[in-house]
Amino acid sequence: MNKPLILVVEDDPPVRNLITTTLKMNDYRYLTAAGGETAILEASSHNPDIVLLDLGLPDMDGVQVIRSIRSWSNLPIIVISARSEDGDKIEALDAGADDYLTKPFSVEELLARLRVTQRRLSYMTAEMLSASSVFVNGKLKVDYAGGCAYLDGQELHLTPIEYKLLCLLARNVGKVLTHTFITQNIWGRSWDNDVASLRVFMATLRKKLEPTPDSPQVIQTHIGVGYRMMKVE
Ligand code: CA
Repeated sequence: MNKPLILVVEDDPPVRNLITTTLKMNDYRYLTAAGGETAILEASSHNPDIVLLDLGLPDMDGVQVIRSIRSWSNLPIIVISARSEDGDKIEALDAGADDYLTKPFSVEELLARLRVTQRRLSYMTAEMLSASSVFVNGKLKVDYAGGCAYLDGQELHLTPIEYKLLCLLARNVGKVLTHTFITQNIWGRSWDNDVASLRVFMATLRKKLEPTPDSPQVIQTHIGVGYRMMKVE
């Protein structure tokens, strides 16, 4: 298999160098862009496997870059945000980014995010090839066609909303889903009290899914952002 090609979009040279050095040492190929326009051009002409995108760029907002790429491609985008405000990350995720890193980040975090995204990619490819209607993730099995889910071979007794939630997370395994995205998919709207109910449904779903709901292994919480189902090896 070819080494994955990563497009690194970052205007700050020290950060860009840290990223590219890390990539080189870990068997990735890379391209770089220091601005949004170059990023869009490079993405369309080289078709990278993953884009690492800084949100604060000199020529345009990173969110605009995501919207532009999303108009023609589903290629995975991991955003890098220097700003600690959740608002930017959430806007980026809602615009179609797959995941995020907050500056300052460690080399280990960067590599972990890349691995999660690569696993998601290979899983999605395998899914498309098999056109499977059954989702399997560790001990969890969701039978989309049958409308039921199993844990360790035992059928899970889920309410219709819990089941809908589980399917949404499963179909987007590996991806961070924002509160807005989830509530819009479940209730067709996103009001403050929908986000509050989402927390309640998520807690009851976890009780049924996780052996230790206090340290969840299947569904990760991203505080102030949303949730992600992890792909279990
Ligand atoms: Ca920047």
